[in-house]
Amino acid sequence: MKGLAILGSTGSIGTQTLEVVSELRHAFKVEVLTAGKNWQLLAAQAIQFEVNAVVIADETCYSNLKHALKPYPIKVFCGEAAIRDIVEMASIDLVVAAMVGYAGLSSTLHAIASKKHIALANKETLVVAGALITQMAYEHGVSLFPIDSEHSAIFQCLAGEWENPIESLILTASGGPFRGYNKLQLQNVTKAQALKHPNWSMGHKITIDSASLMNKGLEVIEARWLFNVKPEQIKVVIHRQSIIHSMVQFKDGSIKAQLGLPDMKLPIQYALTYPQRLPNTFTRFDFSRALDFSFEAPDLNTFPHLQLAFDALHAGGLKPCIINAANEVLVDAFLNDQISFYDMATYIEQSFHFNINGNALNIDDIKAADTETRILTRELLKSVN
Ligand code: NDP
Repeated sequence: MKGLAILGSTGSIGTQTLEVVSELRHAFKVEVLTAGKNWQLLAAQAIQFEVNAVVIADETCYSNLKHALKPYPIKVFCGEAAIRDIVEMASIDLVVAAMVGYAGLSSTLHAIASKKHIALANKETLVVAGALITQMAYEHGVSLFPIDSEHSAIFQCLAGEWENPIESLILTASGGPFRGYNKLQLQNVTKAQALKHPNWSMGHKITIDSASLMNKGLEVIEARWLFNVKPEQIKVVIHRQSIIHSMVQFKDGSIKAQLGLPDMKLPIQYALTYPQRLPNTFTRFDFSRALDFSFEAPDLNTFPHLQLAFDALHAGGLKPCIINAANEVLVDAFLNDQISFYDMATYIEQSFHFNINGNALNIDDIKAADTETRILTRELLKSVN
């Protein structure tokens, strides 16, 4: 039995991880669950999976959660520091990092320092601190198993090929709900349209990132760190059917791809059970539907977020951390109706030029860059509104 901590259990990845675990109850024991503020769902999950402990980040939810779990032998904690510290628990073997955004960084760092293997969904962690995280994982003998479907696809293509040189990693992208739009059309899109992804059902932040192609940009940076390749070895191709989840081209020209339905349960299960492939009841892809596969280049002019992510990766240092922080502020502002979809591209281009320096291997510099970027981005928004 593998002991699991699922950080962000009430979210899209967290709930799907619990669905996977429900089918594999013989292989996993859920020790810890955490959430931001959804104490009702957290309590229900804790009871269903008979967990050892839960943590809620929002301290105002603590008394409700504690009361709901009073009849059960489940420990209840609150606060961000408690989420960070709980991953040390001896009975945890694998930490599923499924919180959203920069908030997931410190618990992942702490889990690595505590020698816990990581099933990583929280891509922002590798974007802001990829150099530090991969160095720490190496030093502590910790494995990072990707959950993101593209990175899981690459990981699966590389199985048995660890010694063979890679020519390029080819990340596929659906193109989101606005694929084919021009700049003029993008000026009038609504929040409801942006939240309606054609192929995937996900949390709000990643859904907006998918519509702007920032998600693909974050994934490019994530791939650089997970697979230790040079930025110029990473390509992006639009494949609107989301059946080919990504590809690897080797130095002999051969391309390997991983296919499947757009369902996160498969990559989640692979991250949890690697190197095994356990039987499951997930829906299978049906070739008799005679689906056409299409490929096209991304439109980097209309969707500048993706180009900016490449630029940040090439610039190195704290640039990826800076564009990530600016993006989190801008997505939040868009979701709160303060700026338009189109504005996000304008402001993130400006944030790229914030003059913030520091050492990307130093956690204090990373935290300072994140904080300063958020302040500067909010000032930028105030100055134009
Ligand atoms: P959701 O928004 O659906 O869930 C986020 C989870 O994190 C929730 O449990 C939420 O709790 C918790 N949370 C939010 N803020 C905090 C905080 N400050 N402190 C503690 N917990 C917090 O996100 P997703 O599941 O969609 O995404 C999670 C991560 O996985 C992201 O990094 C995303 O990019 C990545 N990912 C997601 C995919 C998907 O299909 N959804 C695919 C590939 C990667 P609460 O519910 O209480 O707010």
